[in-house]
Amino acid sequence: MLTPLQRYLEKTPPHRVEPSFVSYIANLQQIAVTMPHIAALIVKELESQRSHLKLIASENYCSYAVQAAMGNLLTDKYAEGHPQYRYYGGCENIDAIENAGVEEAKALFGAEHAYIQPHSGADANLVAYWSILAAKVESPALAELGETNLSNLTETQWEELRHKLGNQKLLGLDYYSGGHLTHGYRQNVSARMFRSYSYAVDRTTGLLDYDAIEKQAMEIKPLILLAGYSAYPRSVNFRRFREIADKCGAVLMVDMAHFAGLVAGKAFTGDEDPVQWGDVVTTTTHKTLRGPRGAIILCKKAFAEFVNKGCPLVLGGPLAHVMAAKAVALREARSDQYRQYALKIRENARTLAAECVRLGLHVQTGGTDNHLLLLNIAETHGLTGRQGETAMFDCGITLNRNSLPFDRNGPWWTSGLRIGVPGVTTLGMGEPEMKEIASVVKLVLDGTKPADSEKGGISKGRITLDEKIRSQARSQVQTLLEAFPLYPELDLPSLKTYFL
Ligand code: PLP
Repeated sequence: MLTPLQRYLEKTPPHRVEPSFVSYIANLQQIAVTMPHIAALIVKELESQRSHLKLIASENYCSYAVQAAMGNLLTDKYAEGHPQYRYYGGCENIDAIENAGVEEAKALFGAEHAYIQPHSGADANLVAYWSILAAKVESPALAELGETNLSNLTETQWEELRHKLGNQKLLGLDYYSGGHLTHGYRQNVSARMFRSYSYAVDRTTGLLDYDAIEKQAMEIKPLILLAGYSAYPRSVNFRRFREIADKCGAVLMVDMAHFAGLVAGKAFTGDEDPVQWGDVVTTTTHKTLRGPRGAIILCKKAFAEFVNKGCPLVLGGPLAHVMAAKAVALREARSDQYRQYALKIRENARTLAAECVRLGLHVQTGGTDNHLLLLNIAETHGLTGRQGETAMFDCGITLNRNSLPFDRNGPWWTSGLRIGVPGVTTLGMGEPEMKEIASVVKLVLDGTKPADSEKGGISKGRITLDEKIRSQARSQVQTLLEAFPLYPELDLPSLKTYFL
């Protein structure tokens, strides 16, 4: 019997053979030998992603080169430590891969130092926190004791140091104002490691109020002033954050996980570029940056030796295959094409926000300066974010509900929808498509009502969706998706025949 790859090559004239498709089939074929179920699910995921409009602000579509760099024997190697300081033998190729990624990151962002091992944004933030604690608390404490090695401390000295490390203050953006869980939210370890405080956006404007943040920072005097967000639609002035940090004696840390692609592509420069102003900057690599799932840390030289100890401090062995993919993605982000992409993200988000406003939707802060916008659907449609999210998915749109500043519906139901354009911009969509997306979003919201609750009253989760509107919205979404197919080289019907 012919293998899927043989079947494909047999039916395809040589000049029409797609190399990316060949490697996909070969990989799936390999997987299917051991576990056909997993091969089938990968094909189904392609089908699902192709048939839904991805408006999740934190997701994107990476290149075949990035995917290929991740799927190989590099995963087999242990390389604890960092280049030239490994706890394992035989790491010369991993050293070269990690060094290449580090150099790409430094060149792309103009950073003094880069560390590319963190497995995720949450891990990167933990490494950053502990590096800052090591630099600013542990190191001076050791110097005072005339020691260089933690293992030489007496039980009492160690307990005193641990108490000092656990008694530092963090000041970051409030979760409801768009901060991330790892920025000092009580459910996260960050609020358990630190005495954590938060600043919020202004109640009336929804914007960061730097004078108010400065006042708060001067009262709290945190060890770390943290800027960056998951759901804030406006420009951030990192020069101003630098001034505040200097004034209150804090280390300025920035989590640019969401907008790193805009920094990389020079859509954010000057005061909007956190790498220039921050002491330690973390970012995921899989959002606007369009790389593999993972993270990196950029920092000033003074923090380099501490950040480099992310393993063993927080992390285990680095993922060499993912570091290779990060290097590839960072190189891609240095291209002119990527710069165009970053500018286009900003333009698309602005078009989408303006059209939503024109159609009468409530866009928080009246617009956007980055890759995302927030809709207050509780106000316009009496829906929770959860209901809006369900209705959109039902009509072929994936996005996520989001808390809004001072949200009365709490973090589970929420009052908002977060809409991001990095994915649809990667697919090649532009102004007409943004307008079309705004019209579908409006259509779906207008056709959605909260269902009656089983316990009486109105449900916060269940909806009723007008059938005619559902089918109209689905057909509009389908037309958009067909005009901008995801991974067009991959022939889905053939994959389904081979692997489902
Ligand atoms: N930091 C910010 C600002 C984020 O938005 C996120 C994830 O959404 C993270 C950190 C965590 O990233 P990861 O999911 O890779 O741990």
